[in-house]
Amino acid sequence: MKKIYSNIRGTSDFDTFDSFIFSRICKKARSAFNIFGYQEIILPILEEKGLFAKGVGQVTDIVQGQIFELKGKDIVLRPEGTAQVIRYYIQNSLHKKSDFHKFFYIGPMFRRERPQKGRFRQFHHIGAEAIGSDSIYLDVEVIMLALKISAECGIKDTELKINSLGCADDKRKFSEYIKKSLKPATLCAACKTRSTHQALRVLDCKRPECIKAVKDLNLGQNSLCQACQEQFKKLRSILDDAGVKYTSVPTLVRGLDYYTNTVFEITSSKLGSQDAVGAGGRYNNLMKTLGGPDIPAIGFALGLERMLIALGSKDFKQKPDIFVATIDKTTVAKGFEILTRLREADLSCVFEYQQKTLKAQLRSAQKKGIRFVVIVGEDELKEGSVILKDMDKSVQTKVKIDNLILEIEKIS
Ligand SMILES: [Zn+2]
Ligand SMILES: [Zn+2]
Repeated sequence: MKKIYSNIRGTSDFDTFDSFIFSRICKKARSAFNIFGYQEIILPILEEKGLFAKGVGQVTDIVQGQIFELKGKDIVLRPEGTAQVIRYYIQNSLHKKSDFHKFFYIGPMFRRERPQKGRFRQFHHIGAEAIGSDSIYLDVEVIMLALKISAECGIKDTELKINSLGCADDKRKFSEYIKKSLKPATLCAACKTRSTHQALRVLDCKRPECIKAVKDLNLGQNSLCQACQEQFKKLRSILDDAGVKYTSVPTLVRGLDYYTNTVFEITSSKLGSQDAVGAGGRYNNLMKTLGGPDIPAIGFALGLERMLIALGSKDFKQKPDIFVATIDKTTVAKGFEILTRLREADLSCVFEYQQKTLKAQLRSAQKKGIRFVVIVGEDELKEGSVILKDMDKSVQTKVKIDNLILEIEKIS
């Protein structure tokens, strides 16, 4: 029996439309990164497992059970980009070249999660890391950049959520307080375990019993030391001055160990329970943890698949502008020559290679939503002309071949 292969569960085959939107998102993102002065880096998909155990955290969900590992090799498919960018930075002693670096990356990440809407085993991140400054203005820059990319891509109804986890000291004290205050008996099964070694994660849990338990804790920003409280206040006032709307959410902690101080999340109402389009935060201690110099940094990642879902099926234009149709065999050669000339002028056009009737070619152009059809017929060719048909307006005119490009540019 013949076996029909399918794609692996939790991965996606992007069809031509989704691939078009995917590229469009990348294009918009690259343009926003350029405006903000971030430079692209392309890093490998394979990394050492230890990098993430140490960087992301040994007891995090990712490292505990979601990493795709090559059997017996301690090599993994990268589950996220930040630890990797920092590995790259340390490996190349980039701090000796400049004291400030701004990178971005676009690429696939892998996590062995239960596939559901908005959650995949292979997914794509558009991420940025700004390394070398502790300025709160940089926090605002990074937040505004993430917002700009999602807005430029056409994602509406987003909400910005912010919080401060405080410095490492504050975070530890806060975590101890949560651990002490939560009653494990009131929590979901997963959080019962989390509450001992990863108490902050309980704040993230979407189970109703955990939401209630967390609500009863009545959290504020009181867990922060004076300096961190002031810093968070400053962040909010700069956002206010910049006219950026946000909600301050004391339970926003993010699932990774390396975050300190500012954390943020951009959510969309279009996404359902996995509602984050992207998220980020400061990770001032990660570089040190991974054996590098003591250099502060902040970053974010947007989920490309989440962005696709949030965008829905919008009417994006993905079609050539011109169809070159030929009347019969005798005009094919000239038709192909005109096609080549149009393409040399960077006009998007297609050609019929299967020798169909003119009627069939016009039908095909209409089906594809192509606006202009250039009809190459013997009689017109004798005068050095072709017929230019505007499908939208249902009008056609005879145009000299030498004027064709100018004519199309004039009316399109
Ligand atoms: Zn502090
Ligand atoms: Zn829970």
